[in-house]
Amino acid sequence: MTDYPLTDAELDRMAEVAVRVGLNLQPGQDLILTAAVEALPLVRRVVAAAYRAGAGLVTPLLSDEGVTLARYDNAGDDSFDRAPGWLYGGMAQAFSANTARMAIVGDDPMLLAHADPAKVARAAKANAMAYKPALEKISNFDVNWTIIAHPGRGWARQVFPDLTPDQAQARLARAIFSASRLEGDDPVANWAAHNAALKTRTKWLNGQRFSALHFAGPGTDLTVGLADGHEWHGGASTAKNGITCNPNLPTEECFTTPHATRVEGYVRATKPLAHQGSVIEGIEVRFSEGRIVEARAQKGEAAFLKLIDSDEGARRLGEVALVPHASPISDSGLLFYNTLFDENAACHIALGQCYSKCFLDGATLTKDQIAAQGGNSSIIHVDWMIGSGEVDIDGIAADGSKIPVFRKGGWC
Ligand code: ZN
Ligand code: ZN
Repeated sequence: MTDYPLTDAELDRMAEVAVRVGLNLQPGQDLILTAAVEALPLVRRVVAAAYRAGAGLVTPLLSDEGVTLARYDNAGDDSFDRAPGWLYGGMAQAFSANTARMAIVGDDPMLLAHADPAKVARAAKANAMAYKPALEKISNFDVNWTIIAHPGRGWARQVFPDLTPDQAQARLARAIFSASRLEGDDPVANWAAHNAALKTRTKWLNGQRFSALHFAGPGTDLTVGLADGHEWHGGASTAKNGITCNPNLPTEECFTTPHATRVEGYVRATKPLAHQGSVIEGIEVRFSEGRIVEARAQKGEAAFLKLIDSDEGARRLGEVALVPHASPISDSGLLFYNTLFDENAACHIALGQCYSKCFLDGATLTKDQIAAQGGNSSIIHVDWMIGSGEVDIDGIAADGSKIPVFRKGGWC
């Protein structure tokens, strides 16, 4: 056994913020919690905090990196088109009955680096298709949900390759703690202030009713048309069950839905993208009528091309997000190889599924109405970073006039 990198008091603080700020779990509400076996010390604290908050029933579902690898090393070929639809069907049923959802993430981003990429892609696709009924209830924001991070050892090794495993895990624990705004006397009050600041930004953006955003920077000249009736969100927001939660801890972004057919120009990624065991570096793509028509990457190009061919919607955008270049995560200077952190260090776009909540009256729109307003649909939703201290952003009004939004990576 090695030294666990978080003290009991720190675990309690994380669990408290996850349950009170992340989920805002209500008395009597059930909770489904997914986590790695490695995160058990945190899982136990979260379960305790959830019951203290009045949870009805907390059901943790644990995974393990060794179990995942055992499949790739031993399973027959047919296995890689299988997924536990029965489990995901049950989760969808639970969400329909107002069960909240928490994911504790922290797996080794390079876990599957040595597995057959074709099998990884097949397994991911089978899983995504089987998970869809449950994921839809999350992406449609039917219930309160949140994602938080645990400093897994495999993950820590990727972020701090030059340190010993113990040192790396301790450093990652510290980085998660400060990026998640868990320091200070009263992290719950700090989160209330941070949420209020994000609300001011989204209010301004919603008041502007931009028809598009224009990104300009090295290798980037991109116009992202915004969906008709789009709505900006950031920080805490209210699920359809009426509960206001913070879906991501940490979060620094203001985000909305681009128009699936109104994206033009070219863009260069500003950070590597870790995706299913591959690190994809130097992504450059060109969009025409909303669709990626040219794509290349300096490293991991095959994985990127496979990703954008996942389905029809995978070459189109489902999210655009504004994140200042100066934030606790960005200031750390670390590449986390984990979307929860890296997407909160820079402006980003996501290929694939849009969030229906990012529309005015999103809760009442049908799938067809969302599509008609420009909302994209896909089995994937993959964020990648296009912001840096060198990127400027203008908002383009309906009459074509331009309003500065970001200069040199910061809010104007
Ligand atoms: Zn985002
Ligand atoms: Zn996203």
